[in-house]
Amino acid sequence: MTASWITLLGATGSIGQNTLDVVARHPERYRIYALTGFTQIDELARLCRQFSPTIAVVPSDAAAAQLASLLLSSETLIQVGDEALCQVASAEKVDTVVAAIVGAAGLLPTLAAAKAGKKILLANKEALVMAGALLMTAVAQSGAKLLPLDSEHNAIFQCLPDGFSDLASAGITRLLLTGSGGPFRLRPRESLGAITPDEACAHPNWRMGRKISVDSATMMNKGLEFIEACWLFGARPEDIEVVLHPQSVVHSMVEYADGSVLCQMGCPDMRTPIAHCLAYPTRIASGAARLDFAQLRALEFAKPCLDQFPALGLAQAAMRQGGVAPAVLNAANEEAVTAFLANQLPFLAITDIVAQVLAGTSVSAEPLTLEAVLAADRDARIRARHCIAHHTPLTHHAPLIGGETR
Ligand code: NAD
Ligand code: MG
Repeated sequence: MTASWITLLGATGSIGQNTLDVVARHPERYRIYALTGFTQIDELARLCRQFSPTIAVVPSDAAAAQLASLLLSSETLIQVGDEALCQVASAEKVDTVVAAIVGAAGLLPTLAAAKAGKKILLANKEALVMAGALLMTAVAQSGAKLLPLDSEHNAIFQCLPDGFSDLASAGITRLLLTGSGGPFRLRPRESLGAITPDEACAHPNWRMGRKISVDSATMMNKGLEFIEACWLFGARPEDIEVVLHPQSVVHSMVEYADGSVLCQMGCPDMRTPIAHCLAYPTRIASGAARLDFAQLRALEFAKPCLDQFPALGLAQAAMRQGGVAPAVLNAANEEAVTAFLANQLPFLAITDIVAQVLAGTSVSAEPLTLEAVLAADRDARIRARHCIAHHTPLTHHAPLIGGETR
C-alpha cells in the first residue's frame, strides 16, 4: 500500500491531536507532509519530533525561531505565515488536507486545498459558513472531495446512499441534525448572566477547543452546523430539523420518503468521524470505545427552544438571508466569543452582539466573491468590537435574580 500524504492545518488543537492519534495507529497508511500551529509552539515541536513532517508552519518569525531552537537537528522545514498555510494545503505531493484551524483563519487555506483538488477533511465549519458557495464551487470545479469531519455531518454523510447527488433524487425528506444542547440545556436563560468562560467550556459529552465549546453552550455551534449542512448536502433550510439529544450517542439522522430513518451511532469521540474520513471508503480502527448497549441509558430526543437559544434562530435567519449574512454572523460571533473568553463580555451578550451586527447588514443581490466575503468579515468585526466596547455591562457578574437552578 502506498502511504497517503497529509497536511494537518491546526495540528495543535483538539481535532489536530485526535487526527494524529488516529494517524499514529496506522503508520503504514499515512505520512505527514505538514503540521501547522499558532500559539502552542512547544506542542508543535513535540508533534514534529513524533511525526517528522516535511514542513511545519507557524505564524511569525519569532515563532519560527522558537520552533527552530526546539527542533535543532530536525529535517523539518519551518515556514511562516498565511501564504505558507495555503502552500502546504495545495502542495502537489499532498493527497489529504485536514482543515482543523478554528474560525475564519481557516478559510483561505481550505479554499486553496479545494482549488487544488485535494481530499479535504473539513472540521473548520466557519470556512463553509463564511463562503459556502465559493468553497462548494471550487470543490466542484477542481474535482476535490469534501468529507465532513463534524460528527453530525459525518453521521448524515454515512446515512446517504451511494452516488448521492441531491436530497430529492435520493428520496430524502428530512435531515435531522442532533445536538446535545450543551452544558446549559436545562437552565433557564435568566440564570446564565454570570456564567464564566470555564463553566461555558465544560461540555457534558465532548472535549473540544474553547471557541467551539462556547458555541456549543450558546448553541451557535448548532446554528453554524445548520448552515454547514445546507451547503454540504445541497439542503434548503426547511429540509433540516434540529433535534436535541443530550446523550450524544446518535450523531444525526436522515429521513427517507418511505418513513425510514437512518442514523449513525457511536460513543462521542471525534476519532470515529476522523478515521471514517481518513480511510473513506474503507474502514480502519480509530481507538474509540465501543458503544455498550447494556450500559446505555435511555436515548432522549426533544425540540430545541429558540427563546432559550436565540443563536440557533439567528443562524437560520442568516442562511435564509443569504449573501454575506452568514459571514457577518460568523465574524460577529467570533469577536463576541473572544471577548467573552477574555472576561470582557457577559455570556448572554454574545448572541445580543451577533443580533445587533446582523441587523445592520443589508442584503446584496450581487454574486458572492471572495473579496465581498472578506470585506463583510472585516466590517462585521469592526461593528462587533464597537458593540462590545459600548455594551452596557448590566448582566456582567450581576447578582442572579431568583438564584440559579442546577
Ligand atoms: P482548537 O482551539 O483546539 O484548535 C484550533 C487550531 O487552530 C490550533 O491548532 C491553533 O493553533 C489553530 N489556529 C487558531 N487560530 C489560528 C490562526 N489565526 N491561524 C492559524 N492557525 C490558527 O479548536 P478545535 O476544537 O480543534 O476546533 C477546530 C475546528 O474544528 C473548529 O472549526 C471547530 O468548529 C471544528 N470542530 C471541532 C470539534 C471538536 O471536537 N473539537 C468537533 C467538530 C468540529
Ligand atoms: Mg458537531
